[in-house]
Amino acid sequence: MAQRFDAIVLGMGPGGEVVSGKLIKAGKKVAVVEKELIGGECAYWACIPSKTLLRSPEAREESRRAFGTSTPTLDLEGLFKYRTP
Ligand SMILES: Cc1cc2nc3c(=O)[nH]c(=O)nc-3n(C[C@H](O)[C@H](O)[C@H](O)COP(=O)(O)OP(=O)(O)OC[C@H]3O[C@@H](n4cnc5c(N)ncnc54)[C@H](O)[C@@H]3O)c2cc1C
Repeated sequence: MAQRFDAIVLGMGPGGEVVSGKLIKAGKKVAVVEKELIGGECAYWACIPSKTLLRSPEAREESRRAFGTSTPTLDLEGLFKYRTP
């Protein structure tokens, strides 16, 4: 049976998530089309994985500048596994 929609959002990266959320809040019936993963580039390949890799070296460097702390070792293998489960 055919369905009718007010809008079709192509791509569910951050842009698509925002626009579809706004349309749904406005009471519209929305269809979304995503060819890979909902969340898009930011969640899976860009913002979050890159910040995951940057945070541990940053925290290690900060500890070197704080009196009375020992410098933690960096488990690079574990870090890459954590980034890409
Ligand atoms: C290394 C890196 C780090 C970044 N860090 C940050 C950060 O810290 N902060 C920040 O704000 N931004 C960051 N960005 C930028 C951020 O990732 C992008 O601005 C954001 O993902 C763009 O969102 P978008 O929805 O426009 O596109 P995308 O995230 O690319 O989403 C588009 C979606 O459309 C889908 N799609 C494409 N064509 C079709 C089709 N024909 N049919 C169905 N689906 C389709 C794709 O599969 C994808 O899921 C970073 C980018 C990179 C590369």
